[in-house]
Amino acid sequence: MESKKIIELTQHYVMNTYARLPIALAKGKGSWAWDADGKKYLDFFSGLAVNNLGHAHSKVLKTLQTQARELMHVSNVFHTQPQAELAELLVKNSFAGPKEGPLRGRAFFCNSGAEANEGAVKLARKWAKKKFGPQKFEVITMKNSFHGRTLAMITATGQEKYQKGFEPLMPGFRYAEFGNMESLKAQVTDATCAVLIEPIQGEGGVRMASAEYFRELRRFCDEKGLLLIFDEVQVGMGRTGKLFAYQHFGAEPDIMTLAKALASGLPVGAVVAKEDVAQTFEPGDHASTFGGNPLVAAVAKTTLETMLEPGFLENAAKLGDSFMGQLKKLKKRLPIITEVRGLGMMIAVDLDQPAKPIVLKCIEKGLLINAVQEKTLRILPPLTAKRSEMKEALRILAEVLEETAKGQGVIAAAAPRMEVMS
Ligand code: PLP
Repeated sequence: MESKKIIELTQHYVMNTYARLPIALAKGKGSWAWDADGKKYLDFFSGLAVNNLGHAHSKVLKTLQTQARELMHVSNVFHTQPQAELAELLVKNSFAGPKEGPLRGRAFFCNSGAEANEGAVKLARKWAKKKFGPQKFEVITMKNSFHGRTLAMITATGQEKYQKGFEPLMPGFRYAEFGNMESLKAQVTDATCAVLIEPIQGEGGVRMASAEYFRELRRFCDEKGLLLIFDEVQVGMGRTGKLFAYQHFGAEPDIMTLAKALASGLPVGAVVAKEDVAQTFEPGDHASTFGGNPLVAAVAKTTLETMLEPGFLENAAKLGDSFMGQLKKLKKRLPIITEVRGLGMMIAVDLDQPAKPIVLKCIEKGLLINAVQEKTLRILPPLTAKRSEMKEALRILAEVLEETAKGQGVIAAAAPRMEVMS
C-alpha cells in the first residue's frame, strides 16, 4: 500500500493521539528504514530509543524465529526458561547482583515503561508500609520528568501538559527540581517512601545532573530510609554507552525500571530490585498476563547478550562522543545552535528557534531524528550504527542547520564547510 493511502487510513480509523510525521514506514534494516513508497532514510529516531540494535538484527531475528516455533506464550503461573534466564542476566549485570557470589536481587516483567514504573511504585509503597507503617506512600518525582501515560504515571510525571484534562490526579506524588538536593529535601514528609528519578531526563530534553548530585541523593535516601528508584526506560540498555546510565554516576538504585530497547522492539517492561525490596512482593501482589512471555524474554536475553559482547558498548560510546564533538565544533560557527549535550548515543542539540522545521528538513534529506520540547533536537542513533552512517547523519544535519542559518542571514553564504567526522 502506498504511503498516502496508509496515512489516510490512519487518519480515519486510529485515535488522534499522536502528532505524526507525514511518512509511513514499511521496512527496516540496520540503521536504515524505508517508507511505503520506497524512499530510504537513515533512522536516528530509533523508534524512540527502542531500536538500539537497529532494525532486523540477525541475532534478534534468529531468536525470534526459533522461540516462536518453540513456545510464544504461556501464563505466568508456569515457569519458563527464557524468563528465568533473562532475570538472571539482568540481575547479574546490574546493581541487583554481583557477577559472582550470592545474588542480591530479582526482576519482574511487564509490557511497557509506564507499567514498569507502576510496578516500582507499588513495590516501594508496600515495602515502606511493611517496614515503617501505613502512613508511608508518597513518592517524590522531578519537575520536567516523564514516566508514562497511565493515571499514576501522568501524576508522577512532573509536567502539567501531560496531566491537563485528566484530573483528578492520583494522590501520593510530590515534585522536586531535578539536580537540586535542597529542593528534594524540602519535599520530604513523614509519608515519603521513595524517590523516582530518570538518570537523564529524556522527554524533558536530555537534561543531565551531576554525578555528585546522584551520590548525594543515594546518601540522603539511605539516611532517611527512602527507596531510590531509577527510571532507565529510555536511558538504559546501552543508550548512554554503558548498559545502564546509573553506571556513569557511582550511585546505585534500590529499584530500576526498564522497557523500550530491552526486547529490541517487542513490548516489554522490567522492574529490577535489590533482594530485600524484591522480597516484599508475594504471590497475588502484582501480575501481568503477557509480562515476560517466552518470546519476548528470549529476544530480550539475546538483546542483552549482544550488548554485553566485548567492545560493543565501548564502540557505541566512542561513536557518540565523536559525533557530539563535531556538533560542538558546528555550534561555534552556527549561532542558531545554543547548546550540544548528551552521553553516548543520546545526543541533544538546543536551538534558538523551533526544532520541528529542522526535523522536517532532515526528513526531506533522508535523516530521521526527533524534537523534544520546543527547541531541542534529539538524536538517537542505533548503537550498531557504522562510522560511515554517523558521518552521513552529521553531513545531513550540518547541511540543514547551515542552510537554515544562511536563510536567516546568521552566517555568511561563503562560510567554510565543517569537516565531517574522521
Ligand atoms: N519512562 C521514561 C523515562 C520514558 O522515556 C518513557 C517513554 O518515553 C516511559 C517511562 C513510558 O514508557 P512506555 O511508553 O513504554 O509506557
